[in-house]
Amino acid sequence: MATLILAEHDDAHLNEATAKTLTAALALGQPVDVLVAGQNAKAVADAAAQLAGVRSVLLADGESLANRRAEPLADLIVSLAGKYDAIVVPGTSTGKNVAPRVAALLDVMQISEITKVVSPDTFERPIYAGNAIETVQSSDKTRVITVRIAAFPAAAAGGNAPVETVGAPSDTGLSSFVGADLSVSDRPELASAKVIVSGGRALGSAEKFQEVIAPLADQLKAAIGASRAAVDAGYAPNDWQVGQTGKVVAPDLYIAVGISGAIQHLAGMKDAKVIVAINKDGDAPIFQVADYGLVDDLFTVVPALTKALAN
Ligand code: FAD
Repeated sequence: MATLILAEHDDAHLNEATAKTLTAALALGQPVDVLVAGQNAKAVADAAAQLAGVRSVLLADGESLANRRAEPLADLIVSLAGKYDAIVVPGTSTGKNVAPRVAALLDVMQISEITKVVSPDTFERPIYAGNAIETVQSSDKTRVITVRIAAFPAAAAGGNAPVETVGAPSDTGLSSFVGADLSVSDRPELASAKVIVSGGRALGSAEKFQEVIAPLADQLKAAIGASRAAVDAGYAPNDWQVGQTGKVVAPDLYIAVGISGAIQHLAGMKDAKVIVAINKDGDAPIFQVADYGLVDDLFTVVPALTKALAN
């Protein structure tokens, strides 16, 4: 049998989450096909074909697949599922939207947010906000798996897989696309950024958050993150939240500025390779996970650090 993965994309570009999902899928030890479902997404299929280790790319192109609504996407995956014993999707908004529907239609359990493939039927996944790792073994005929993308490196380029066309499903009318209100930014995407500067409640206002955090992020070409307290207070937008109920990130460098290090925040960033904490309280829990700590007033040291980096 074989493994089918769902590509993450916006019809124009293949998202790096696909290459990370591919790494997880290849660990199952079977041939891997990539499903690119969208509208006018040929360029995405061609990009997916270049990922090393892909056996073939299935391109389903049609109006019903525009905007990646879960209902037609799940119908498509289920129509292909007979040829696969594992369906692996990235743990992104799209993946988390469609995978439960696929699992329900196939009458199997979903194996959520895997961080390690132990064997083709056994996986590790974090539970209790990352405080425990659960090992899950599945005896289902078809395994429907979502992948915590921060836990896997991206598969390399270097493949040359054939692109095959498969029919797009007809729209059952169960849902319709109303609109998307997306924030546009020149900064790297938070979920895949190599460097993240994150701010907490200590920033005190949206203006100070921008004034202190943004210039440091600019110097480091970093994405900006935030604690939930900063988001709830309106200092930073929702999609910047890092943590249990925000994004899970694993950058090379994570700089936590004025963040105490509550377990719900750590659940989203403790796998960063290098963690730097700036906090005026030397007993703040963030220092327990930090590789480098600076006990000082952020309003003094962050502008000084930004200035030093600029020179
Ligand atoms: P605080 O805990 O108030 O910490 C502020 C820190 O700034 C303090 O350590 C203080 O010493 C320091 N400080 C103050 N002034 C300065 C200064 N001038 N210079 C330097 N340091 C200074 N939180 C998340 O972040 N992400 C989540 O996804 C998330 N999910 C949650 C889910 C649930 C179910 C629950 C119950 C909570 C969740 N939380 C989450 C909230 C979490 O518990 C904390 O409340 C939150 O992370 C605290 O944010 P903070 O560190 O910015 O604020």
